[in-house]
This record gives sequence, structure tokens and C-alpha cells, in this order.
Amino acid sequence: MRDMRALVIDDSKAMRMILGRLLKTVGFEVSEACHGRDALEKLGDGPPVDLALVDWNMPEMNGLDFVKAVRGSGNHAAMKLMMVTTESELARVQAAIEAGADEYVMKPFTPEVLKDKLVQMGFGA
Ligand SMILES: [Mg+2]
Repeated sequence: MRDMRALVIDDSKAMRMILGRLLKTVGFEVSEACHGRDALEKLGDGPPVDLALVDWNMPEMNGLDFVKAVRGSGNHAAMKLMMVTTESELARVQAAIEAGADEYVMKPFTPEVLKDKLVQMGFGA
């Protein structure tokens, strides 16, 4: 089986580092994008991605629009999408689920919470 690949999509460099480090500890190869449009470009150029962690508020293309664009394209159908939200955005999570997001995690979260979600999604032990 090939290595698992994750794409961390967030306009915060600090958040990308935190999430990237965590994903590496559970065995992902990690790449980063700083907003939705950047992510679409990287998905178009790169190898298949198994999991994308998607921030909400980003310049150029926000997280919800990214989910809509990916799921509407019919490409990357096997890629799981996890929204990374704040509490104030929870009411909007339903819109992302309806658009095709698979899961969400609320900031701030512990490494254990994120790892549990990943296991539920079929990643990791
Ligand atoms: Mg943001």
C-alpha cells in the first residue's frame, strides 16, 4: 500500500505547521496550501491526496467554496475532506457536510481528538 498523503489547507502558517506535524506522527506525507485556490492548483499538479484538512476563513477561496469546487468537479472523489472549524462556525458545518465534507474538528483540539477522528475515518490503526 502506498503512503497516505494529506493536504493541509489553511491561511495560517502556524496552523499549517501544527496540523502538519500531527499528521506526520500518524504516518501521513503532508503538503500544504494557503487557500482553496492554491489547494486546487496543487491537487491538479500533484499525486492523489487521501485526506484534506480544510480551514474555513481563507483569502481567495474559503473552505466551503473549496469543498463545493472539489465535490462539484467529480475529481479526487476518494479524497476525504475534514473541516477545521471554530465554535462560531459550527452552525455552518452542516452546509459543508451537505456540500460533501466528510468530517469536522473544532478548534482548539487535542492531538487525541484529531487522531480519534482520523481512525473513525479509516486512517491509522
Ligand atoms: Mg483561516
